[in-house]
Amino acid sequence: MATSRIANSPSLIPIPIPVLPACYLECVNEYRLRLPGPTAIPERVRQAIARPVLSHRGPEFTAILRHTEDMLQTVMGTRNHLFFFASSGTGMMEAALVNILAPGERLLIAVNGAWGERFADIGRSLGAQVDTIDFSWGYAPDAGEIQRRLAKADYRAVVVVHNESSTGVTADLAAIGAVVKDTDTLLVVDSVSGLGGMEMSQDEWGVDILIAASQKCLMCPPGLGIVSMSQKAWSVVQRPGGLPRFYFDFRKARASSDKMETPFTPPVSLIVGLREALQMIHEEGLDDVIERHRRLSTFLQTGCAALGLPPFSTTAELSPTVVCMRVPERLSGNDIVRTLYQRHNTVITGSRNKLEDRVIRFGTMGQLTTGDIATDLHYLEDTLHHLEAARAR
Ligand SMILES: *Cc1c(COP(=O)(O)O)cnc(C)c1O
Repeated sequence: MATSRIANSPSLIPIPIPVLPACYLECVNEYRLRLPGPTAIPERVRQAIARPVLSHRGPEFTAILRHTEDMLQTVMGTRNHLFFFASSGTGMMEAALVNILAPGERLLIAVNGAWGERFADIGRSLGAQVDTIDFSWGYAPDAGEIQRRLAKADYRAVVVVHNESSTGVTADLAAIGAVVKDTDTLLVVDSVSGLGGMEMSQDEWGVDILIAASQKCLMCPPGLGIVSMSQKAWSVVQRPGGLPRFYFDFRKARASSDKMETPFTPPVSLIVGLREALQMIHEEGLDDVIERHRRLSTFLQTGCAALGLPPFSTTAELSPTVVCMRVPERLSGNDIVRTLYQRHNTVITGSRNKLEDRVIRFGTMGQLTTGDIATDLHYLEDTLHHLEAARAR
């Protein structure tokens, strides 16, 4: 590996220059980013992000922010003002909880995968009394069970992951919303990996805090977090005696959003990119975009199953945005992931939790075509063939 010294650096420690593959450096389109986030971004979005940075308090940016909010409200199914933060999705998970909790309050968290577990960890780290409803991985959270648990204690919020990316399973938010709606409890929903690729009707379903992020179906680079908060949530957020907060304080975000601003410097270029991505969604038609995600994920699931890798979940509504397939005992998911990249520049992922090596996961998010999925399957078939042949030797 080559090394360099930064000119005039007081440090004499050589800095290694990483060797990046040619598929990435020379021909970006041949680097096939097929993760469940971050996703490959459309050329139109890349061009928008490459434009000069705007003043975040100037009239051009205000107009762009307003247009972005307008289009995103449609995708979210809400009339709420939206808040934008420079943050990954996890920042928004923490922000949602820190804004609604007072010391010692209780949370009821539906856990059916790794993202539910993360919510429980965040809740505990904030000092909440966390009760989980544990569903087997691969199962969807059950509204009836949530209703039974809600009747047993006073919960500040029920927390549900709309699209559990670790297992490729979706939650029935209409049913869950119906059992939370007429209680004093808030419904907090993480749709980071779902929004823009599946139906979301925040206001109709009674979702009180909805969080999302830029790098999944919204077809932008990572770094932009999004929050939509109901009136019911606002009455909790603004009450005295809540947890201490500053950067992620929704009271500040709301005061600014009334003026079509953000409290701090937002990731201006990412918002410009998001506006472009949303324009693409609106040009194609939101219903058609959602239908395309459904069709392409089904195509990929069916194709993988035909190659001997069935869906991980056999019981739940499968995700239209994350395809999670079970790897047969004789093969290793990590080997499949590595070989698919080495032979075909195609980046998918396995799992970094208890399913490690036992599943592989693709994103079916954003601007994909039938041809992209056919190519995935073609490369996956070659990869499996290669690994089986190596096993036979
Ligand atoms: C990707 C994802 C997030 C956010 O992850 P970050 O790495 O923090 O951006 C949150 N929830 C779910 C369900 C996700 O799939």
